[in-house]
Amino acid sequence: VDANGEGGWSNARIEPYGPIAMDPAAAVLHYGQEIFEGMKAYRHADGSVWTFRAEANAARLNASARRLALPELPPEVFLESLRELVAADQEWIPTGDGEALYLRPFMIATEAFLGVRPAREVSYRVIASPAGNYFGGELKPVSIWLTTTYARAGEGGTGEAKCGGNYAASLAAQMEAEAQGCKQVLFLDPFNDNAIEELGGMNIFFVFKDGRLVTPALNGHILHGITRSSVMQLAADRGLQVQERKITIDEWRDGVAAGEITEAFACGTAAVITPIGELKMADGVIASPGEGIGEVTAAIREQLLGIQTGVVEDLHGWLTRLV
Ligand code: PMP
Repeated sequence: VDANGEGGWSNARIEPYGPIAMDPAAAVLHYGQEIFEGMKAYRHADGSVWTFRAEANAARLNASARRLALPELPPEVFLESLRELVAADQEWIPTGDGEALYLRPFMIATEAFLGVRPAREVSYRVIASPAGNYFGGELKPVSIWLTTTYARAGEGGTGEAKCGGNYAASLAAQMEAEAQGCKQVLFLDPFNDNAIEELGGMNIFFVFKDGRLVTPALNGHILHGITRSSVMQLAADRGLQVQERKITIDEWRDGVAAGEITEAFACGTAAVITPIGELKMADGVIASPGEGIGEVTAAIREQLLGIQTGVVEDLHGWLTRLV
């Protein structure tokens, strides 16, 4: 759909996948006025197709829109766009274990001008692609790299928004991680005693032996992960004490050494939940105790993936039927 400049959206259509024609002076190409979401559509055993917490994605898209001076999209238009695309793309929905159709809604400023101001012509689109297991095959703990060279976001910046520029800014750190043999990079918050913030594309959790589950508090520049909020709810349901608070690398290192922190995991739409095997950094490594996936991580992962794939009851009303 296209923004009509008066707060409305029009020209809804489905197009064959292919290049988008744009003026070389389109604002998105020069000033990065762009936002997006990441979601999945899962086919359940009875053939129906469902997505997870779509209204939360719609709300986050609109929060990102406000930050990037883009027009908001009515949640019903957002949902309708997913419905129509998934209905048209049904043959592409994979049905293997944990597989899904990945959905990428995005909004771009298409107006052609050179000069820094919000664009008046904006286009919202969704593309879809079959998605397997994010880190491939079995559920192996991942190695992550701690960057101290780069920060992901700053006070008053766009860290809380899901905009392309945040990811462009994280690529150099991601390259650093890959050079160290790591799949993801961990960012700290240099404005808050180097507290742990989040990974390049996932939020982070720590399991304490005494039944606490700790995740960095939202600080105005951590992405409000929808998997993060779901994990917190499921953990509370299981009787874990969930704490959103400041946690530092020193607390992680000391907690593991003292046997108090027993598991660490990362979560996001793409990989759902992935155990963290080790954190590598310039002057050492923090290795998670045990082999493979921890007990609490495995239990929450199975429950969450079970809800998404329709084999565990959706007690929180998180699923929306698309087809
Ligand atoms: N943090 C960042 C920086 C991300 O890109 C993502 C993926 N959207 C997440 C966290 C996890 O968010 P969600 O659970 O909504 O996918």
